[in-house]
Amino acid sequence: MKVTFPHMGNAWIVIQTLFESLNVEVVVPPINNKQTLTLGTKLAPEAACLPLKLNLGNYIEAAQEGADTIVITGGIGPCRFGYYGEIEGQILRDAGYSLDVVTLEPPDGSLRGLAQRIRYLAGTRNSWASILKALRFAYLKCVALDQIEDLIHAARPRLPNPQETELLYEEGKKRLAETMTVKGIQDIVRWLQECIRDRQSAGNMVSEKQQKPLRIGIIGEIYTILDPYTSVGIEEQLGHLGVEVDRSIYLSGWVGNHIFQGLAPGYRSIRSYHNHAKPFLPHFVGGHGQETVGAAVKFAREGFDGIIQLFPLSCMPEIVAASVLPRVQETYQVPIMTLIVDEHTGHAGVQTRLEAFVDLLERPRHKRIPENTREGVSVVGGR
Ligand code: SF4
Repeated sequence: MKVTFPHMGNAWIVIQTLFESLNVEVVVPPINNKQTLTLGTKLAPEAACLPLKLNLGNYIEAAQEGADTIVITGGIGPCRFGYYGEIEGQILRDAGYSLDVVTLEPPDGSLRGLAQRIRYLAGTRNSWASILKALRFAYLKCVALDQIEDLIHAARPRLPNPQETELLYEEGKKRLAETMTVKGIQDIVRWLQECIRDRQSAGNMVSEKQQKPLRIGIIGEIYTILDPYTSVGIEEQLGHLGVEVDRSIYLSGWVGNHIFQGLAPGYRSIRSYHNHAKPFLPHFVGGHGQETVGAAVKFAREGFDGIIQLFPLSCMPEIVAASVLPRVQETYQVPIMTLIVDEHTGHAGVQTRLEAFVDLLERPRHKRIPENTREGVSVVGGR
C-alpha cells in the first residue's frame, strides 16, 4: 500500500509523520501549485468547491508517483466536505484512475468506525499501543506546527528583514518535518523563539508601527485560511504590509475537535466560538459558518483592528456567515472585509484589496466605518 492524501497548508508535515511512524509508505504530493489546480479543474464539475479541485490535482500528481490509496478526512453535517471521499473516488474512477479511498471520519459519530479504518491503514504489524503512540506524536507535531505559524505571524511585522523571516519559517517547517522525537519538536519551537528574539533585539531602529502593529483576524472556511496557495498567501502579504495576523482555526484545534471528537483541545481550541456566535447565529449552518461568526465576535472583543473573512466561491456555510457579519461589524464597530477566492483569483487583485483595507485601518478608529457599512465583499479575479 502506498498512501497519499490531499494538501491543506502545512498539514502534510503531520500526516507524513503519522504514516512514517507506522512504517506505512507515503507519497506526499507536490505542494499545491498552478499545475495541481489545472489538473483538478479539468476533472471536477465547474461548480465544485475550490478545495475539491485542488484535492483531485493532488491525487493525480501522487498517482503519477505510485500512490494507490487516498486517505481523506470527511465531515459530518450538511456541507459538501462530507461527500468529498465518495465524489472524488467516483471522479477518479471515471477518469481511469484506480485509487482506493479511505475516509477517516467517525462514521455516524462513532469513534469505533474511525478506529477500524486507522487499523486498516496501519496494518497488522502495528499494535494498538504503537498506533496510539504514533497518533500522539503526530498530534504533538501538529501543536508545534501551529506554534511555529503563530510565532511567524507575530514576527513578520516586527522583524526588519522580510526575506529572512520567511527563510526562518521555511527552516522551522523543514526541521519539524524531519524530527522524530518529542524533544526534537520542543527544541525547534525554542530555537525559533530564540532566533526571532535575537533578530528583534538586533534591529535597533524599530518604528512605533513595528512595536505596535495593526492586528487583523482571519476567519472563514478552514481549507482556504490554512492553505497559502488557496488564500494567495494572505497571511504573508498582510505581514509584509506591517500587520500581525491571527486566524480563527489552527490545524490542531480542528483535529482535536473534529477527528478526536473534542478529546484534545489543540493549540487554539475552537470550542468557545459557538457561545460567541449565539447572539448573531445561534445554530449550526454547516462547515464552519457558525465558528466564523463566533471568531469574528471574539476577535472584535479582543480589540483587533480589523477582520477578513475568506472563503471559496459558492461555499454555502460561509455565505450564511457573511450575511450575519454586518451585524457583528455594527455592534463592535470593527471593519470586516470578505474576500471570495476561486481558480481565477490572483495575487495582484488580492494585494490591492489588502492594501486598501490596511489603509482604512490605519485611519483613526472613529473614522473607519463612517456609515456603518461593510468595507466590502469581492470576488478577486486573475490567478
Ligand atoms: S466548507 Fe465550503 S468550501 Fe469547504 S467543502 Fe464545505 S461547502 Fe465546500
